[in-house]
Amino acid sequence: MNPFDVIVVGGGPAGSASAIFLALKGYRVALLDRAKFPRDKVCGEFISPGADPILAELGVLDSMESACETRLQGVAVSAYEKEGFCADYPPLSGRSMTSLSLQRTIFDSILWNRAGEVGVERFEGFQVADLVFEDGRVAGVSGWDVSRVAFNMRAQVVIDAGGRNAVSLRRLGLKKSAKTTGRLALAAHWEGVPEHISHCHMHISPPGYTGLAEVAPGKVNIVLVVRPQDVRNRDLHEFYKTSVLRNPLRAGLLGTARPCEKVRSVDSLAFAVRPPSCGGLLLVGDATGFIDPFTGEGIYLSLRSAQLACETLTKAFALGDFSLAVLDEYERRRRKENEKKYKLSRLLQGILYRPSLCKKVTRVLSQNPDLSARLVGVIGDYIDPEELVSSRFLWDLMLGALGKRQTGSEKNKTF
Ligand SMILES: Cc1cc2nc3c(=O)[nH]c(=O)nc-3n(C[C@H](O)[C@H](O)[C@H](O)COP(=O)(O)OP(=O)(O)OC[C@H]3O[C@@H](n4cnc5c(N)ncnc54)[C@H](O)[C@@H]3O)c2cc1C
Repeated sequence: MNPFDVIVVGGGPAGSASAIFLALKGYRVALLDRAKFPRDKVCGEFISPGADPILAELGVLDSMESACETRLQGVAVSAYEKEGFCADYPPLSGRSMTSLSLQRTIFDSILWNRAGEVGVERFEGFQVADLVFEDGRVAGVSGWDVSRVAFNMRAQVVIDAGGRNAVSLRRLGLKKSAKTTGRLALAAHWEGVPEHISHCHMHISPPGYTGLAEVAPGKVNIVLVVRPQDVRNRDLHEFYKTSVLRNPLRAGLLGTARPCEKVRSVDSLAFAVRPPSCGGLLLVGDATGFIDPFTGEGIYLSLRSAQLACETLTKAFALGDFSLAVLDEYERRRRKENEKKYKLSRLLQGILYRPSLCKKVTRVLSQNPDLSARLVGVIGDYIDPEELVSSRFLWDLMLGALGKRQTGSEKNKTF
């Protein structure tokens, strides 16, 4: 097989987007996935409005919109069944903002098929088992094809978009466990929902929290995040169903709806990753680390990392240099951009599991539409997180939570 310019391992959002961006620039790209498409993935399935411009650049926004029967208006949060608020996405330059909410089988297939349309050579059922090194840098991959025949593929540069179990993480020992405790996510689609649900609902209440998003009329996706010890020796499906229905707000939204598939699970949610210390390799998407899905931004971050990787690789191709010194620009830009989001995510994690603080913070947000709208815009990836991580926002929030200051008089929409 003639060497490719780029090999991309993994055809999820990060990998397919990387392959499309590079093919649109004229590079010869191979995109490999061990799965066959359509393939599923445990996910909350709501996609930040901030992803829209990237999807448009990839040439898939129209297809996504045709496939998406319902766009979400914002986010509704409830804390321990006591406090809650419902905030629309704030407008951007006078434009109202909404988010796609689409099953991953559909979302990922649209991207995978688009890669084929723009000339990416796709290899389904190809399991990458190892990286190939030459002169101390990555120069290709090896593994087994769909017929279990060994293959060896060469390229100037490899992008590992293999997600949380990416081959580079294991091969180069890059995975570190995050400081937060491990969690388990359980997910299923529910059918028979009586009324249209216009917002993504986040409910924080024992045994963990849920994200609920309508993905089609009468159909919602519900992810329940719990501690692994909560489900030990339990029937997963029964535990999941009972826990979801135990919360009266969720039960109210669901009516007589029931799961239309067996619950799926993914464990050890949070992890951090060291950047690779060799040339010829870039990591994108979840392969770069993962904090927690509460703010549901993984798809946006994956698409954005693909965009940044493509920008750096364009320079590397112009220089004919794929050394660590050149590729490191990507790593620095990505980390700088994500720093504040990760800070916010850690802050929210610190609040979520402290019932009293969580209720107080939620009450402050319910009383202050400006604060909650800004939070939702940041989570939606189109308002700079600087606005929240700035001391002013935190002051308002914390002083409000401590009852020291009136932060707003107008009540936000409640539910
Ligand atoms: C519980 C949960 C809820 C979430 N909810 C949301 C949400 O609501 N909104 C949101 O934006 N994000 C959400 N996320 C995050 C989102 O799912 C991820 O950030 C996103 O899927 C990452 O995309 P990716 O392309 O990096 O990896 P993936 O989507 O995991 O794709 C990786 C691909 O690589 C392939 N692969 C892996 N290893 C190999 C190999 N060795 N050889 C060949 N192929 C390989 C796999 O088959 C797979 O297709 C959630 C995540 C979790 C865990």
